[in-house]
Amino acid sequence: MSDQSAHAGGCFCGAIRYRLTESPMFVHGCHCRDCQVQTGGPFAVNALIERSCVELVSGKPVRVELPTDSGQPHDIYRCPECQTAVWSDYGRREVLVFIRAMTLDAPEACPPDVHIFTRSKMPFIDLPNGAKAFEVFYDMQAEWPAASLARYDALKTRRLGV
Ligand SMILES: [Zn+2]
Ligand SMILES: [Zn+2]
Repeated sequence: MSDQSAHAGGCFCGAIRYRLTESPMFVHGCHCRDCQVQTGGPFAVNALIERSCVELVSGKPVRVELPTDSGQPHDIYRCPECQTAVWSDYGRREVLVFIRAMTLDAPEACPPDVHIFTRSKMPFIDLPNGAKAFEVFYDMQAEWPAASLARYDALKTRRLGV
């Protein structure tokens, strides 16, 4: 990423500031009911990136643990002051985070690559022509760019400590 400033972000009050040292691997527009309730909006925009590529510039987000249907924990990391959610960790993987892309200073730089769980998409939301939309989930191998798949594979290796 040549323009680092495009990947800076933070919470509403400014106590948390972060910087992404790489472009996200992939971006989800998630229309699931959990995201709708948790964000108060029609869908969440989640930028998937290695935790090691998220540099905290100031502040320290606090973890809020939520249950999910899968039984895996969903940890939301929030500003301790204003409670803005800055990222999520699904399944407590710790090496992979879902940046809440609207907390980026330039969120238009991270549009969704796919829209998922569109079975609960709000009828007042029309997706752009040509948008990739999936009723539930999608096939990573088919949708992710090769470079991102390689980064994801490297992450799995790191997680297993091999
Ligand atoms: Zn804050
Ligand atoms: Zn969701």
